[in-house]
Amino acid sequence: MKTNGMFQRIMEKYRRFLYGRYGHDSLNRFISVVALVLCALSFLIRSTLFPLTVFILLFISLFRQLSKNHARRARENQIYERAAKPVKKYLKFQYTRFKLRNTHKVFTCAKCHSILRVPKNAGAHAGSQSGGGQSGGGQSGKHAGGQSAGQAGGKASRHGGGLAVRVEIKCPKCGSSFTRRIAAGGKNN
Ligand SMILES: [Zn+2]
Repeated sequence: MKTNGMFQRIMEKYRRFLYGRYGHDSLNRFISVVALVLCALSFLIRSTLFPLTVFILLFISLFRQLSKNHARRARENQIYERAAKPVKKYLKFQYTRFKLRNTHKVFTCAKCHSILRVPKNAGAHAGSQSGGGQSGGGQSGKHAGGQSAGQAGGKASRHGGGLAVRVEIKCPKCGSSFTRRIAAGGKNN
């Protein structure tokens, strides 16, 4: 009974200690991931720099979690999220491009910057057509749904000796269209 009461007292003190603290946010999650990666690297590369940096990062993370200055911590997080947004978008684009490398060309919309994909044979069709200008996006919508990248309507026309074709891409999200050059075989120029 006595130890149980002591345990409750400690928990109560702990709760009071945490009351009003800032806690976790996306910047702290990022700092923790970087610390984890550096920690793993420190096993491979012998340098005091890694443990030292890990220690500093964990200290910053803990300081931010326990901080009572919510306004300042929220501002730091905002700055982080603004800086991370284009990087995350780029990584998502590269990931989508890799995932669909065998079937689709992946673009970003020139206007709204959403990630779009066009079937690779859209370019091959145009390359084999004599007149050009015909729609090569006949498969549009076939794979729609369940995938992150929007299926754009790809209209291809023959261009410059059949090696490269200009594909007109219509963004399904914002409705704007723009052209991209792709090789007839579907490879990027
Ligand atoms: Zn768009």
